[in-house]
Amino acid sequence: MDKELERYSRQVLFPGIGEEGQRKLRQSRVLLVGCGALGSNVANTMVRAGVGKITIVDRDFLELNNLQRQLLFDEDDVAKSLPKAIAAADKLRKINSEVGVVPIVADVNPSNIEQLVRDADVVLDGTDNFEVRYLINDACIELGKPWVYGGVLASYGVSMTIVPHETPCLRCIFPESPPPGTTPTCDTAGVLAGIVSLVASIECTEAMKLLVGAADRINRGMIWVDVWDNSFEKIQGSQISADCPACVQGNYEFLEAKEGTHATSLCGRHSVQVSVRGNPTVSFPELAARLSSVGQVRYNEYMLRFAVNGYEMVVFPDGRAMVNGTTDESLARTLYARYVGV
Ligand SMILES: [Zn+2]
Repeated sequence: MDKELERYSRQVLFPGIGEEGQRKLRQSRVLLVGCGALGSNVANTMVRAGVGKITIVDRDFLELNNLQRQLLFDEDDVAKSLPKAIAAADKLRKINSEVGVVPIVADVNPSNIEQLVRDADVVLDGTDNFEVRYLINDACIELGKPWVYGGVLASYGVSMTIVPHETPCLRCIFPESPPPGTTPTCDTAGVLAGIVSLVASIECTEAMKLLVGAADRINRGMIWVDVWDNSFEKIQGSQISADCPACVQGNYEFLEAKEGTHATSLCGRHSVQVSVRGNPTVSFPELAARLSSVGQVRYNEYMLRFAVNGYEMVVFPDGRAMVNGTTDESLARTLYARYVGV
């Protein structure tokens, strides 16, 4: 075996990968959207597997309750309030210095998704909400890139691999996003670490099949697993829906939904994210100077925290903010307009 492949020897010995497969992995570019529970597990496995480059996009920062299932992070990262993408990249570079790790602290939205997807050979889902998944689906179908869907909640999880125009896409299976408030969230149902790593493992293996040229082996239906009820089911025979808006009609509704200020309640926390079209650049020293007369302000190079009237706002350099202490989206937009402005 070539010396350069030695660290991957146990993977190379597996006939489905082999030396040729390993070389293909070394040339591959992976986009990971979201670096929480699923995402940090996925990043860990893909970097150890020896992909060429992984771009990790995540908008969130670390909290102590993440450590139960987000295995790249530790208490030091939480104490430093690091963004997840940054903390993950630091760890991943120590795990495998051969892999190019590109962390991006940002919200994935209609204005940046196409650029991110265009540069990838495969896209992996580490998100926790359907809005972003539909956006990934639209961009991947439009640009002809495969992606692997994964989701977890409580003790169950799902995964599906989507090869545009060849297998059913997310909208073939779920034409519309479930209405707000109708599905359980990690706020109400919690999540076990075991299902997170299981679904992440499925996602990573699917990605490796696509990257080494073993697409004939991919999962072409929905896998549904429950580690508490001991059930492992596969929904077979799914077909591309004849009237799918995305992969049949070419109508990319999520990609085209370009709005101004946009607010989203965040799964797993009592907070709302407010993002702004056009990704403006915010100067923290200037904003801190303005806000210091109205409330408590502190900042580092990644974020500015501002507390006022029982709410806390965490503002990022691209103008995005998390408003903690409410789930009311219009209140969050009001607070944003009042204190940050656009
Ligand atoms: Zn479709």
